[in-house]
Amino acid sequence: MLKTLRDITQAVAAAEDLQSALSLLVSQTKSAMETQCCSIYILEEQELVLSATDGLDPRAVGRVKMPMSQGLVGLVAEREEPVNLADAQQHPRFKLFTEVDEEDFRAFLAVPIIFQKLILGVLVVQQADARQFSEAEEAFLMTLAAQLAVAVREQRKKAEVKSAPDKCLYTGTSAASGVVIAHAMVLGGEIALDQQLHQTQDIETELQALSQALDACRNTLSALSQRFDGENEKEVQSIFSALLLLLDDTSLGGEYVREIQAGWTAISAVSRVSLRYIDHFLKMQDPYMQERATDIRDLGQRVLRELIEPQKMQLELDVPVILVTKEATATMLAEFPQHKLVGIVTEQGGVNSHAAILARAFGVPAVIGVEGILNAGIDGKQLILNANRGQVLISPTPTLISEYRSLISAEKALQKRYAAELSQPATTLDERRIHLYLNAGLLSSLASEIAEGADGIGLYRTEIPFMLQTRFPSEAEQVEVYRQVLDAAVGRPVVMRTLDVGGDKPLSYLPITEENPFLGWRGIRLSLDHPELFLVQLRAMLNASGGRDQLHILLPMVCCLDEIDQAIAYLEQAYLEVKQDVHPDLQRPKLGIMLEVPALLFQLEEVAKRVDFISVGSNDLTQYLLAVDRNNPRVSTLYDCYHPGILRALKQARLACKHYRLPISVCGELAGEAIGVLLLVAMGYTQLSMNQGSLAKINYLIRRVSYSDLSAILNEALSLSNGAEVRQLLTQYLKDNELDEFL
Ligand code: PEP
Ligand code: MG
Repeated sequence: MLKTLRDITQAVAAAEDLQSALSLLVSQTKSAMETQCCSIYILEEQELVLSATDGLDPRAVGRVKMPMSQGLVGLVAEREEPVNLADAQQHPRFKLFTEVDEEDFRAFLAVPIIFQKLILGVLVVQQADARQFSEAEEAFLMTLAAQLAVAVREQRKKAEVKSAPDKCLYTGTSAASGVVIAHAMVLGGEIALDQQLHQTQDIETELQALSQALDACRNTLSALSQRFDGENEKEVQSIFSALLLLLDDTSLGGEYVREIQAGWTAISAVSRVSLRYIDHFLKMQDPYMQERATDIRDLGQRVLRELIEPQKMQLELDVPVILVTKEATATMLAEFPQHKLVGIVTEQGGVNSHAAILARAFGVPAVIGVEGILNAGIDGKQLILNANRGQVLISPTPTLISEYRSLISAEKALQKRYAAELSQPATTLDERRIHLYLNAGLLSSLASEIAEGADGIGLYRTEIPFMLQTRFPSEAEQVEVYRQVLDAAVGRPVVMRTLDVGGDKPLSYLPITEENPFLGWRGIRLSLDHPELFLVQLRAMLNASGGRDQLHILLPMVCCLDEIDQAIAYLEQAYLEVKQDVHPDLQRPKLGIMLEVPALLFQLEEVAKRVDFISVGSNDLTQYLLAVDRNNPRVSTLYDCYHPGILRALKQARLACKHYRLPISVCGELAGEAIGVLLLVAMGYTQLSMNQGSLAKINYLIRRVSYSDLSAILNEALSLSNGAEVRQLLTQYLKDNELDEFL
């Protein structure tokens, strides 16, 4: 049974086009259920259209249509539940369509096909004799319909793109605001290494193609490596230097050549060598060596891309591009020359995924969840990316371009206006001072002029430099990085978070395979299990902070008091070591924890006895309070920081901290959003940490609102039934105060 279900679903998913998918579906279902007729009706513009049949008159396909209010098929769609009738013709909703030839059928079983609450169509089986389909048959058809929903929807999406090749507007969700006009660069994901391999007689031509591809790769890698050198990003640079070495004649470069000399095409040679070495490294015992397989795959992909799509890599270096890809990774974003990456469009990903957070840190407009964009054939085409509205416009007309250019100038003028006030404190109209800090991860996003305007660095995500390495950075390397972070905010507090890997932040050199990574080996759990790594990191932070009084250390993902106690013991050990060995005058850093795991909301009294401050990680706190994966597009509409339950938790945390005299800040994305800031200020939060793109804007906003007005509307917000209503209430407040520009 399971196999039959899987076979049908897979056949539908793999079909060439929608029509063949539906034809396969009806014929395979008919035979699996040993019935005389199976048909599918697809909902198109509010009408159910007979789209494939095995048993009815095939000439009726596409011609028989009915609104949901008509016929038995309409009834199934309307009620969103199955209808199982021994004799359909006796039912008051039975409607005879003479063109389909169904007079002979009496037994009728139909189930709706539903994807994320939306009816896609109705699947029907029929039989001549008047008999009730069994419960088992009904259950089978329902299971099949549920499994099919995704495949049918995917096929429909493909068909829509094909039938409207000139579709010029795509929409998604805004992950980082802004408007930009540039050409698209589609990175279509992995090139299959095990695709058909070909032999050749023309060895010279293939060697020449390989040599050109290798040269182009070398140029790209050296340019990337130098760029990061220029910006003191040694950790990123080392990735590219390692790949460059692998291209040498004495390494993989030479292996590629030997394969061509043995008669393989250049593409086949690169694929064969990559596959061989990936396999070889994966079989090794040592996890570090196993991970070298990733470098070999990465390099193979680069060379193949040069062989298959040579212009693409040139584009990467020569002109600013909007990156269009399935799902952007942190490494992919970091790898781009930053001023050449002017926009990001992805088919997948969540608004609070780490790639989205990086996009905001770079100040690059990003729209995510744009369905069908990878099939739209837009590589190299001009795009307008209006991330303020979540829109992607393809090959816009000159008039549209000039309109958007004016919009971009207006936006720039606005940013300039915000920036002009950044040197003034964020104080509300009724004199409540709010301290604004910066969230950072890459050194290059800590431009000194930006850090100047902040009251300090409220969250330095140390895992980001770790993610860009090919091995754990040494203590000396870490000291160097942390010193630069402290330098970027001289005389002001800097909150450095200890390694928060796991979840959606993998380290290529510490692969973690888990069923449920967000509930697994993350953050402090991993650090406490690896004291040797944790101590190195703590020592590096303390070492870098010698002679300064800025360092605050923050522990991520804490879920119980024991973890705090253990971390305090390690911190003390590291402190004594550094004090004795390097800095005799070393001051003890302030220690804090992230409030991300809901249980700690109820233990703040005990937390306050142990640490100096806490910082609310609203991104994770939301995902754990709502039990919604922050990266999963299927449940993204449920991931809502404005859910009144979340807001009450935030208010409760603030009140408890006030009571226990425990300083509290917010460093999740909520603290960088206009409406989020209004609510947090209303709750009494006075320390907010946000990405650099939000800093000036939020400063400007705070200077124009009144704390007492906001506190007055807070209770109303907390009593509303959902996040949309909360947003609406605060939107009205902004409008009433002529602050619509923040919407
Ligand atoms: C958070 O969870 O809100 C947070 C700031 O941490 P991160 O986004 O890095 O998980
Ligand atoms: Mg977090």
